[in-house]
Amino acid sequence: MLVMKSLKLRGEVITPSFTFCATTNAIEWCGMKPVFADIEEGYLCADPNHVNELVTKKTSAILATHVFGNPCDIGALQDIADDRKIRLFFDAAHCFGSEYKGKKIGNFGDAESFSLSPTKLVVAVEGGFLTTNDDEIARLGIMGRDYGHDGSYDCEFAGLNARMEEFNAIIGNETLKRLEKNLQMRTDLVGIYRQGLSKVPGISFQKIRDRSRTTYKDFPLILDEKEFGLSRDQLYESLRMENIISKKYFDPPSHKQRAFRQDIRLPVTDSIAPRIISIPLFSHMPKDDVKKVIETIKNIHENAEDIRKAL
Ligand SMILES: *Cc1c(COP(=O)(O)O)cnc(C)c1O
Repeated sequence: MLVMKSLKLRGEVITPSFTFCATTNAIEWCGMKPVFADIEEGYLCADPNHVNELVTKKTSAILATHVFGNPCDIGALQDIADDRKIRLFFDAAHCFGSEYKGKKIGNFGDAESFSLSPTKLVVAVEGGFLTTNDDEIARLGIMGRDYGHDGSYDCEFAGLNARMEEFNAIIGNETLKRLEKNLQMRTDLVGIYRQGLSKVPGISFQKIRDRSRTTYKDFPLILDEKEFGLSRDQLYESLRMENIISKKYFDPPSHKQRAFRQDIRLPVTDSIAPRIISIPLFSHMPKDDVKKVIETIKNIHENAEDIRKAL
């Protein structure tokens, strides 16, 4: 919201539908219209070709999400923003520690926004921050987090109370110290998951962009119901009965939610959303628990026919 206010954006913002609702909420709260782009098969981030098709005279910006920590096709999106003379900024909530072509996420577009809420890699209980190389966004962002004035009580624009609490900052600083270690542990656990699940029919993984690093904020499986033998919802229920809690991120996608509903077709988003499931992953997850989840999923697959009848 502060980036959009700082840039004085109006009109339409192109954004993926396949993201957390907070991305779309921010656009709505700034009084703009979200125009939903489809995602790239495999990578699950905004599809630059579709984004380019959606640009009109009303478009003021692209707001793309680095989904599950996997960087967007930043180069292609920046080319579009430059060509069409619109702004580009990112929802980098999942990305503390991600890299794109050897450079840390936080360096790209006009600005990037990060979250420090409990499911993220660096946690301040609540809170977040934005990064920018643009002096004007920095000036207005700092002012905007404190209602929009610079200490003079003479507001330059309508800001927010978006200050960071000291208590929260202390916790954030402590978890920041563990970021590299936690990232390494997560990456190792994902390695075990990939090895254990890659031969199970009907399961595929998010593709990670070349020369990039993801945080694995989440580790989703994409199901092919015919090959796996069960639908995503049936797998979700079967895991739940074994006390394994998974998440259906991001289903429903924004364009199908009651608040934002648009009668449009986004072929990749519409195909992926009902088939994706994020399985348990946290930095300190014991390797034995990862193996248990793998064995449970294999078992569910092997007994798919019986489960289908029982559910
Ligand atoms: C968590 C999350 C947010 C919201 O972050 P807050 O710190 O709760 O404001 C925004 N976008 C995405 C993609 C998220 O996952």
